[in-house]
Amino acid sequence: MTASFLSTITGSFAMPAAENPTVAMVEAAYRHHGIDARYLNCEVRPEALGDAVRGARAMGWAGFNCSIPHKVAVVEHLDGLADSARIIGAVNCAVRQPDGTYLGENTDGQGFLASLRTVADPAGAHVVLLGAGGAARAIAVEVALAGAAAVTVVNRSAARGEGLVALLRERTPARADLVVWDRPYRVPEDAAIVVNSTSVGLFPDVEGRLDLELDSLRPALVVADVIPNPPRTPLLRDAEERGCTTLDGIGMLVNQGVIGIRHWTGVDVDPAVMRACLAGIFGG
Ligand code: NDP
Repeated sequence: MTASFLSTITGSFAMPAAENPTVAMVEAAYRHHGIDARYLNCEVRPEALGDAVRGARAMGWAGFNCSIPHKVAVVEHLDGLADSARIIGAVNCAVRQPDGTYLGENTDGQGFLASLRTVADPAGAHVVLLGAGGAARAIAVEVALAGAAAVTVVNRSAARGEGLVALLRERTPARADLVVWDRPYRVPEDAAIVVNSTSVGLFPDVEGRLDLELDSLRPALVVADVIPNPPRTPLLRDAEERGCTTLDGIGMLVNQGVIGIRHWTGVDVDPAVMRACLAGIFGG
């Protein structure tokens, strides 16, 4: 029998990197499924990103994640972009192709969509998106491409909100409108899905509350949060109390892992293994 001592290499480039738990989650899945691959969590300074990508190419990495602050800057170091990454204008997952080139994907919104689809289909729905930053942009584009009828962007900064609404109108079939968030927000009666894609609620701001009229959270709503740490945010607790269906930010993170590993190794891994790993880290 001939053994191979050459493992598949994957990893992440970010700064800071120490508090990113993706390595633990992905390697738990590799171990569980007996995949001979490694995931290296690398701290890469912005000025070193080009060298890092050239190094990954030279070593034949199967691919890598990019996180803050590299999601936009990495684009110029790749050979092409998948459709949604092109619309979003940011990449968080590079994938080596059979010809050795690297394609940029954006799995932030795709991970959210996979998590959302465990409880609801956005097709035909009115989706309310709180926030207009990087996570909101990725989620908005994916739910719009998945057939959401309308996306309402609710954001404090009008300029950032307008930018996202213009992108949705120009590049997706969904209707889009902006509410400038300068007073308590009331979720409209016809909305089916509300997503917190702001950073409110993220550790250490664990009691951070959004400026919402809580009585507008009706039991028929799906209320989702992107915050993975801690997973039970004040928004999700308030929504649960009112009978809404809730989704935490761990689901989004786990499904990004599932999608990335599928791209890099061709294996469909069990999300429950990664969820258990993250729950052990974040609690909940
Ligand atoms: P950005 O900095 O790009 O955007 C932050 C957004 O939050 C902006 O729209 C900002 O509004 C809004 N915001 C911040 N503070 C408040 C507040 N007090 N009230 C209302 N709005 C506020 O961040 P990202 O989009 O990159 O990340 C957002 C969150 O998403 C992070 O907490 C991150 O942990 C999470 N995330 C989770 C992922 C997962 O897999 N679960 C993946 C990626 C991100 P304004 O424009 O007015 O400043």
